[in-house]
Amino acid sequence: MSDSPKIIDGKATAKAVLEQCRVEVAELTTQGLRPGLAVVLVGSDPASQVYVGSKTRTCEDLGIYSEKIELPTETTQDELLEVVRSLNENPAIHGILVQSPPPPHIDEDAVVRAIDPAKDVDGFHPENVAKLALEDPSGFIPCTPNGCMELLKTAGIETSGKEAVVIGRSMIVGKPMALLLMGREGNATVTIAHSRTRDLATVCQRADIIIAAIGKPDFVTADFVKNGAVIIDVGINRIPDSSKKSGFRLTGDVDFQSVSKKCSAITPVPGGVGPMTIAMLMKNTIKAARQIGNV
Ligand code: NDP
Repeated sequence: MSDSPKIIDGKATAKAVLEQCRVEVAELTTQGLRPGLAVVLVGSDPASQVYVGSKTRTCEDLGIYSEKIELPTETTQDELLEVVRSLNENPAIHGILVQSPPPPHIDEDAVVRAIDPAKDVDGFHPENVAKLALEDPSGFIPCTPNGCMELLKTAGIETSGKEAVVIGRSMIVGKPMALLLMGREGNATVTIAHSRTRDLATVCQRADIIIAAIGKPDFVTADFVKNGAVIIDVGINRIPDSSKKSGFRLTGDVDFQSVSKKCSAITPVPGGVGPMTIAMLMKNTIKAARQIGNV
């Protein structure tokens, strides 16, 4: 189809969301309700350190109170649960997130369940998962799929009545993404594909919208894509690259080169879904503060 598809600019969209957040934070702070986010990191995984750093820096930039709690790798399950409990009780904190993945001796599910659902700004607590399925607006929607919906909306891409294929069924991206697309806002007809899906390329060829959340670099190639489809690439993969100072470059789950020749719109990596995730986290933190403070 087109040789130059629309590039869906996640950086610009995230900036606009964050500017709106800045205004809301200033208003709430004037009313005596300064939103607060606590980010807990267990261990020293370098990628997690980068994510945690950018979350707390974004808070500072917007005027959101933030606490970064860095715990050693040897932290026990009980010690971590105690930290979560004290944050649940802390009136300055409205949002709590424990950066994933924790060290292997930590039961991540138990930690997520210990977070007060009213402060679960990642939207991973079973109560918030249920609220998403029920379309209860008081719940918290996981930031990455929520960011994808925001990108589609701001790019003017109609989802109602469209065929959408979500590749990936994780609780963080694939499943909530499918729920959002099929819900009353998305109104799409949704297929969820995963590693056991037979003939994935054929399944994807009927899609008007493909959401790729697989974790495999350049996995979705042009033969998966029908002419004019819209592509949202959630993947963030590190590929060794000796020409880069860091020794790696980031690539998505979609082979941008070949797919961009067939699709009508596509998110780049980096600069697509990634920046939206943090922006939606800030939105969720403000929402938590409003709900807790009844403002
Ligand atoms: P998971 O590993 O939890 O899930 C990957 C999914 O892809 C699984 O459902 C898996 O199927 C499916 N899959 C794996 N191989 C295939 C295959 N060959 N064919 C079809 N489906 C396959 O990953 P996440 O959902 O957490 O993340 C997905 C990607 O998104 C990663 O690159 C991650 O880095 C990125 N990400 C980006 C974020 C952002 O802010 N932009 C935030 C979160 C994630 P099965 O269930 O059968 O194993």
